[in-house]
Amino acid sequence: SMRIVGLTGGIGSGKSTVSNLFKGHGIPVVDADVVARNVLKKGTGGWRKVVAAFGDEILLPNGEVDRPKLGQVVFNDPDKRQLLNRLLAPYISSGIFLEVFKLWMKGYKTIVLDVPLLFEAKMDKWTKPIVVVWVDPDTQLQRLMERDGTTAEDAKSRINAQMPLNLKRTKADIVIDNSGSLEDLKEHFREVLVHVRKPLTWTEFGLSR
Ligand code: ATP
Repeated sequence: SMRIVGLTGGIGSGKSTVSNLFKGHGIPVVDADVVARNVLKKGTGGWRKVVAAFGDEILLPNGEVDRPKLGQVVFNDPDKRQLLNRLLAPYISSGIFLEVFKLWMKGYKTIVLDVPLLFEAKMDKWTKPIVVVWVDPDTQLQRLMERDGTTAEDAKSRINAQMPLNLKRTKADIVIDNSGSLEDLKEHFREVLVHVRKPLTWTEFGLSR
């Protein structure tokens, strides 16, 4: 059997930082954002669906999808956003499954799925434990503005476009509070490692499904 740890959180809460800690301890991470980028590459099935639905206007001269432009098109239009999600979801989930399968073939017993929309995409049912990286709202806003060099208004609208972090927190098996320093985070992470390295029990196996 294989333990698939779910890693999620809010925008800028520290998922990538935690993901790097897992990798640093030899636990491989499947990054849903990477898969989501790959399914839009020129000539793929996802690319064809998106071009058919949104037209050539969302393409760059070289035929690749103009991601910022597509982002603008869907950001303020819930119907278009839903359409895009519906078109790409099957490609993303099979892409993630393929990555997991490859790691299983290599003999890994524990892997991490880093999926920003773990709950929204209902992928949480495949993962145990579910680790939510939480951060207090002020710190989240501050870090997001700093990292992306944006205004508070812009950062807030991106935070508010997601499922509230406090709701995600209630669905977690393990909450990592990343409101403190990186040193604090590494300290919390040690406990997570202990939990994650335990073999999967039959009870967990049953309850996670
Ligand atoms: P996104 O959802 O946007 O991909 P994320 O959840 O992966 O974000 P990170 O990129 O890991 O979040 O963290 C957001 C920013 O905060 C980064 O610039 C990161 O370096 C910084 N950061 C993360 N944790 C801490 C911490 N404990 N102390 C200070 N800065 C931190």
